Amino acid sequence: MGTVTDYFGSLVFDDRVMKATLPAKVYASLKKTIDEGSELDIGVANAVAAAMKDWAISKGATHFTHWFQPLTGITAEKHDSFITPSPDGGVIMVFSGKELIKGEPDASSFPSGGLRATFEARGYTAWDPTSYAFIKGKTLCIPTAFCSYGGHALDKKTPLLRSMETLNKQALRILRLFGNDTVKRVTSSVGPEQEYFLITKEMYEQRPDLRFTGRTLFGAKPPKGQEMDDHYFGVIKPRVAAYMEELNDELWKRGILAKTEHNEVAPAQHELAPIYATTNIATDHNQLTMEIMQKVAAKHGLVCLLHEKPFAGVNGSGKHNNWSIATDSGQNLLSPGATPYENAQFLLFLCAVIKAVDDYQDLLRISVATAGNDHRLGANEAPPAVVSIFLGDELNAVLEAIENNTPYKGAEKTQMKLGVDVLPKFNRDTTDRNRTSPFAFTGNKFEFRMLGSSNSIACANIMLNTAVAESLRIYADRLEKAEDFETALHEMIRKTIKDHKHIIFNGNGYDGDWIKEATKKRGLLNYRTTADAVPHILDKKNVDMLTSHGVFTEAEIKSRYEITLENYCKTVVIEANTMVDMAKTQIAPAITAYALELAKTAAAKKALDSTLTCDYETALVRKLSVLTDRIFNDSAALENSVLSLATAEDIGAEAALIRDKVLVKMNELRVACDEAETLTAKSYWPYPAYADLLFSVK
Ligand code: ADP
Ligand code: MG
Repeated sequence: MGTVTDYFGSLVFDDRVMKATLPAKVYASLKKTIDEGSELDIGVANAVAAAMKDWAISKGATHFTHWFQPLTGITAEKHDSFITPSPDGGVIMVFSGKELIKGEPDASSFPSGGLRATFEARGYTAWDPTSYAFIKGKTLCIPTAFCSYGGHALDKKTPLLRSMETLNKQALRILRLFGNDTVKRVTSSVGPEQEYFLITKEMYEQRPDLRFTGRTLFGAKPPKGQEMDDHYFGVIKPRVAAYMEELNDELWKRGILAKTEHNEVAPAQHELAPIYATTNIATDHNQLTMEIMQKVAAKHGLVCLLHEKPFAGVNGSGKHNNWSIATDSGQNLLSPGATPYENAQFLLFLCAVIKAVDDYQDLLRISVATAGNDHRLGANEAPPAVVSIFLGDELNAVLEAIENNTPYKGAEKTQMKLGVDVLPKFNRDTTDRNRTSPFAFTGNKFEFRMLGSSNSIACANIMLNTAVAESLRIYADRLEKAEDFETALHEMIRKTIKDHKHIIFNGNGYDGDWIKEATKKRGLLNYRTTADAVPHILDKKNVDMLTSHGVFTEAEIKSRYEITLENYCKTVVIEANTMVDMAKTQIAPAITAYALELAKTAAAKKALDSTLTCDYETALVRKLSVLTDRIFNDSAALENSVLSLATAEDIGAEAALIRDKVLVKMNELRVACDEAETLTAKSYWPYPAYADLLFSVK
């Protein structure tokens, strides 16, 4: 296969291929579209399509697809072949600019949350030229946005691109105020760290809960879990190493910059991190990464679990969204500068993030809200459902000095003209890393750590980009009118620190006392579940902000509200039904069979020797009998709670019933079954135990 440098990106229609295959004029015009978002004319599109088709065919492709991200959170594709009949009875391979730019998948079954009337059910897909086309199997995949004919976004890419646009616009206003006239574009970048579990296919197949829901719905605590911390960064087992090797190759061929891999805290848990990329490309790549992870696992007789909480009592999986904003000339706007002037600009962008995260805590929480992620947030392993920011001691001291008008320690005492104290060059390598903060400054970027492992990163970045754009808009509105820029700047930075310092928390986010302080003293929001969080997307302040930036229309927000809660309800109902089915048809019968064996044993023993008391068998049969009764009753109660959902007036009420009834009943049933598991002979138990699953890959 050659070396990585030879095959990296070999399945991507990237800049190298474009340059080599497109006429110079076409290439220049396409490049302008990619870099500056200018419009593409059909002549150029035709030339690009022809080159793309020839290239794809040379790589073995026979089909093309508009690859998009519907609101289900996964990717969708409908394949069309390139073939067109020729008059002589054969076929020719054809792909036009029109087909490249626009597609019409018959996608009426994708959730639209009421955005699409049936008469316009089809919707259309539109090429995103800023994300390269690539090959998967025998198909040329063209990254696209997905909209209804009424112009509503039916996907996650469209609002993400809009959020990048508004951030660009507002950040440019600020940069102009600082005298920067050369920057053309500001973009946000993301490096998502992806966690996952690997178990053997053999174990997976034996668990209906894993197959139907992606997580174990039953399972007693194993004798050995993660308490030894011996897995984290531990030696990678040969089978896992072989998996990672092939995974890297597949990702590299598709131009995905897979960089770091290591074992995570839990047994069987691992992490993969790519080098960061522009937000929409990072999002496409992360979706593709999750898909390829699962495909490669299958080839190795493994299953890659991307669920946020596959095993109760064992760390779940998240995704760290490392986020920053940079100019087209490569200046990271969240990097402390070398000069005071640059530092003032840095401080303004920093304040914009602090203000955004505080003002829109709810939107950030909502952006990661799923049934799966609810099991993690606040479970002493992942950041809590309360959003706060970690800045580290040094930056914190800088902000305090500004707020109190005292000189920053270590700084020259001179007041600079800018009105901001002279700041030293901060140490970029913030060694005091805080792993428990939901939103941590890590030297030149922020790490948003609340995302679940299966979440699309689009939602979090839509909210982050837009909320920060809103802070910048407010700043720019004020500064553009200011008579004295420097004084106004200084006052605004101070005001932001004063107004929003309650969101800054540098302590241990897993500490129970923090939740009390955060909610009681500081008044921060604590939306513990998806059912609590999601309705707040409809709060006026959120709708106003998101619509004013053109990121969502009001109807689109409503649709996201509906679909997110529908997803939550459907997920939990499938889990509940799976539990009932497993409990009734496999678990209870297994326990009963074992109890019968014990009873028979006791009777046989007594027949042999009537003085034997058979305490062991008798006590165990009693306990198991009590438990099967509980399982029987708890299953019925769970079924009833699911039936009661039919009484809910709307999706909000249904989600509340899920939270207050169904999940509670699920938990009760689980407790009874898990206790029975610890009392039942292993040979009788219908499923592999946690220890078998977690240590299945040798
Ligand atoms: P860790 O969090 O494990 O210490 P790093 O901080 O080195 O690891 O990087 C984590 C992720 O952050 C990687 O995906 C990396 O590419 C990404 N990253 C680094 N710099 C930036 C940046 N300026 N903007 C966005 N992501 C970044
Ligand atoms: Mg990290």
